[in-house]
Amino acid sequence: MDITNLKGVGAKRAHALQSAGIFKVEDLLNYFPRDYDDRSKVKTVVELMPESINTIRGVIAHDPESVNLKRYNITRIKIKDHTGLLEIIWFNQPYLKKNFIKGSEYIFTGKVRQNGPTLQMQAPDYELVGETQLTGGRIVPMYTTPKGYSQKTFRALIYKTLELCAKNLTQENLSEELRKKYGLCNREYAVRNIHFPESDEAFLTARRRLVFEELFFMQIALLEIKNTVAEQEGIALEETDYTQILDKLPFSLTNAQAATLDDIKNDFTSGRRMNRLIQGDVGSGKTAVAFCAAYLAAKNGFQTAIMAPTDVLASQHFAHCVELFVPLGYEAVLLTGSVGTKARREALAKIRDGTADIIIGTHALIQKGVSYHNLGLCITDEQHRFGVNQRMRLTQKGEMPHTLVMSATPIPRTLGLILYGDLDISIIGELPPGRQEIKTYCVTSQYRERIGGFILKETEQSRQVYVICPAIEESELSSVTAYTSKLSASLPNIKIAALHGKMKPTEKQEVMDDFKANKIQVIVSTTVIEVGINVPNATLMVVENAERFGLSQLHQLRGRVGRGTAQSYCVLITDAKNNQTTARMKAMTQTTDGFRLAELDLEQRGAGDFFGTRQHGLPAFKIANLYRDLDLLEIAQEAAREFKAPASFLSAQIFI
Ligand code: ADP
Ligand code: MG
Repeated sequence: MDITNLKGVGAKRAHALQSAGIFKVEDLLNYFPRDYDDRSKVKTVVELMPESINTIRGVIAHDPESVNLKRYNITRIKIKDHTGLLEIIWFNQPYLKKNFIKGSEYIFTGKVRQNGPTLQMQAPDYELVGETQLTGGRIVPMYTTPKGYSQKTFRALIYKTLELCAKNLTQENLSEELRKKYGLCNREYAVRNIHFPESDEAFLTARRRLVFEELFFMQIALLEIKNTVAEQEGIALEETDYTQILDKLPFSLTNAQAATLDDIKNDFTSGRRMNRLIQGDVGSGKTAVAFCAAYLAAKNGFQTAIMAPTDVLASQHFAHCVELFVPLGYEAVLLTGSVGTKARREALAKIRDGTADIIIGTHALIQKGVSYHNLGLCITDEQHRFGVNQRMRLTQKGEMPHTLVMSATPIPRTLGLILYGDLDISIIGELPPGRQEIKTYCVTSQYRERIGGFILKETEQSRQVYVICPAIEESELSSVTAYTSKLSASLPNIKIAALHGKMKPTEKQEVMDDFKANKIQVIVSTTVIEVGINVPNATLMVVENAERFGLSQLHQLRGRVGRGTAQSYCVLITDAKNNQTTARMKAMTQTTDGFRLAELDLEQRGAGDFFGTRQHGLPAFKIANLYRDLDLLEIAQEAAREFKAPASFLSAQIFI
């Protein structure tokens, strides 16, 4: 059922909900709280604790008053219970006055202060007693609210929806046997109690069940891939001489690259289906290996699809492919959001009839309308940006194609086995020769002027620069553009351009092209450029508010420079002084080893500070937290191994 069918959800609200990923009523029920506030203990006036948040229940003792003072307005009510009186005030909300009627009973949650002799509660959450109690007197859920919703209105929407639909829309998807064996509650109970827990215990029971469910289906998906692959015969390639493409590359492969390519070649000829992960630090040259593999496939008459997470990265790969493959008589096509209708139609036709040998694109590659002629090899770049099911969907486009996934993000072994357990792994453990260690500095914003001088110096030597400013989505545009104009004003002689997620794909492409051609010297950007971008002439990376990024992400960002033989630099700017930030910055200035940084990152996360699982290559979970729920993960893994179900059951589930 679509959310527009819900009462009170008009076009505007529907849009806000959709922006938060809520399209169907089921999605709303599966939109779990980010946090809870335990307001189940209701106090009396004498029990109130000043300077802390309290919940109290009381009857309005007088008619509310609303007073206009010089600078502001105060709305004041007094409530009483059997132990005394409490004053409650709001600033500048005179309209609240009409909400409170003398003699009615309300429940309030807010901060209490001693104001002279009077105990006062300021601007509390409130609710009439007698209605269903949602904001007080219980454990109250807190959501990441969609635009235009307050906690209160969103909570009410969820509550109402649960009342109306929970029975029908929380269909059980774990067998009774399984639930019994692992002590899991039923789905309806879990969904109800994850939103409005009846007690701490009920919450834990609900969460455990939902975490298990999420991890279980992920494990099933992984095992499914693994089993299918292990059993499967693969396309055996015959022609494995790739001298031609090696001659086209402007460098010779490092030993590690060559060894990885050997692994791939062995898979190709083994008669088994390849399912291989290439793990190599940023800048280790994974792309060249992927292209050589694509060449072998093309030479044997098979198509290769290369999927990248962003338009910009896909276009970059495409440009490379054209350069390499067209002279060898092969054709490459691009399929992304920035490709126009006509070009798209042409590309689709070429993919279908087999004219296209190398097909490069974003998620567009796995869409319905794309059908391949004879897909022999699927490559996903920056795999950690995709879910397991997207990887699967790409391979399902062909008949048992070989699969190659690439990732720079090292993940700890325990998690690696679980998440990539279905893959063989090749590691590119060395960087191409001639690379110099990127010199990394951490400074405060007082150095900004000197950094301007640094930027100028690099550009004078015809080098190029990235400046990253972090921005919350809402203000992304303004922060990047404001920064760009400020920098342009202070450095009038160099060409500086902004690049951010709100730009049209074609605009982004234009900026990237000009940057590659050194027509633009400095790009001011958010993390759009974080993955994969390769402009070897860029030698300076400046990261503003570096404290906002996790270690792995900083490492990815830094990896945008130091891609050529010139000395490169990374300057991290932060004014944050807390221990964690200091430790992170120190690690960045002391090591450029991605594996070491990933370990440190995890240690820090273990201490409770999270930056999102994305940078670690772990799929985004709705509720599970792999650092906290490792024990449940093990149980889910065991359950998944024992589980046998028809394939139709699997494809009906949504995972990851
Ligand atoms: P990543 O592994 O991060 O995807 P890329 O494939 O983008 O790295 O390669 C980084 C840079 O190193 C590119 O400019 C690429 O041309 C260059 N490169 C790759 N392999 C070699 C090599 N064997 N010798 C010299 N340069 C190389
Ligand atoms: Mg790459």
